[in-house]
Amino acid sequence: MKAPAIKTPLPGPNAARIVARDQRVVSTSYTRDYPFVMARGDGAVVEDVDGNLFIDCAAGIAVTGTGHSHPDVVRAIEGQARKYLHMSGTDFYYEPQVELAETLAGLVPIAGAGGQVRSFFGNSGTEAVEAAIKLARYASKRFNVIAFLGSFHGRTLGALSATSSKALQRRGFGPMMPGVFHAPFATCYRCPVGLRPETCQAECLGFVEDQLFVHLVSPDEVAAVLVEPIQGEGGYLVPARVFHQRLRELTSRHGILLVADEVQTGMGRTGKMFACEHFDVEPDIMTLAKGIASGMPLGVCSASADVMSWPPGAHASTFGGNPVSAAAALATIRLLQNGIVDNAAAVGAHMLDRLRELMDRHPIIGDVRGKGLMIGVELVRDRATKERATEERNRVVQAMFQRGVLALGAGRNAIRFAPPLVLTIDQADSVVDIFDQSLAALST
Ligand code: PLP
Repeated sequence: MKAPAIKTPLPGPNAARIVARDQRVVSTSYTRDYPFVMARGDGAVVEDVDGNLFIDCAAGIAVTGTGHSHPDVVRAIEGQARKYLHMSGTDFYYEPQVELAETLAGLVPIAGAGGQVRSFFGNSGTEAVEAAIKLARYASKRFNVIAFLGSFHGRTLGALSATSSKALQRRGFGPMMPGVFHAPFATCYRCPVGLRPETCQAECLGFVEDQLFVHLVSPDEVAAVLVEPIQGEGGYLVPARVFHQRLRELTSRHGILLVADEVQTGMGRTGKMFACEHFDVEPDIMTLAKGIASGMPLGVCSASADVMSWPPGAHASTFGGNPVSAAAALATIRLLQNGIVDNAAAVGAHMLDRLRELMDRHPIIGDVRGKGLMIGVELVRDRATKERATEERNRVVQAMFQRGVLALGAGRNAIRFAPPLVLTIDQADSVVDIFDQSLAALST
């Protein structure tokens, strides 16, 4: 399928009918930026129900890393589905779950584990984070949690209490879980302490040591620090390396468990299997979901065998780690290891370069940042004041849709490029060209 190819006005007649039906019966809480209605997908290309072809730069919110319906993943799902769909790993055993845990034990970099890694399986990112919070509390016998401003960790009440992405996501749902504190994230383009990344020593973390630990919470009562190695929903924010290094040192010094939430950054998205590898940091607990099973629901919380030693019954899930998702994950990991992560690194580097070149022509681009195929472009009305161009960002996302590229916003004024990791150089070039045209259309 060669994309983009837009054949009808958007939305086309079939899409418009489905959207109208959706609006009558589906929860009003979903956020749809534009009326794309999926018919099928292949690699990084998706077709809508009117035969229009788009390059997918959203990947079902950074999920379909191996591309849509990769034949190996489909074969693994079909093969497993014919044998059995469900048995519940909570009460029974089945090999796909064991094999997946063994594979993860050899893959996930956990501090001091020496390969002795255990995994808990749920169905989503938020469940992985719930498991991480509960595990950290259980293992440390402490109850407080520190997370970062702008972070997104999920929408169930424990994870939501750590989430601080948009106030709307918390509004009306309080009170939140007690014992959660928020600290400034390393938003280096808008440094919270007014420094430059080249010379800073992660002074933003001074807030944790000099404010939180002094005035609000004693470090010996902090169970965990939750951090996204690269903040996702917050705007695709890449911290300076020193931030993660200092955070690791600080948490180790106080016996606090460091939880890397790699739900969005993991599984090759950043051109390495896990984003924390870019910063040479190993967490104590890691959460995974999104890209791990190419679109089948699966969430994982991994930790060293020492940390994950809670007793039978302490935590479980009927569907978590179901055999079809586990089979999809095993096929996904094989594909990622056999070239797809490398492709994300190479095509991502090319795309970053090309997007940076656009800065010469488009003063509205304030910052281009990212790793691999996790790329954010922040739009500003003025490069000096960095006034956020939120409305313009929204218009650019719409203009890209009309031209055949699916993109999503991130944070208040950034556009994210999170395509399937099989994106080709040619497709990346088409995306950048369409982004260029969409920015130019702002002034018409
Ligand atoms: N953690 C991070 C870093 C995420 O980006 C997300 C979702 O965007 C979640 C957790 C929650 O994942 P889910 O939507 O699968 O519950």
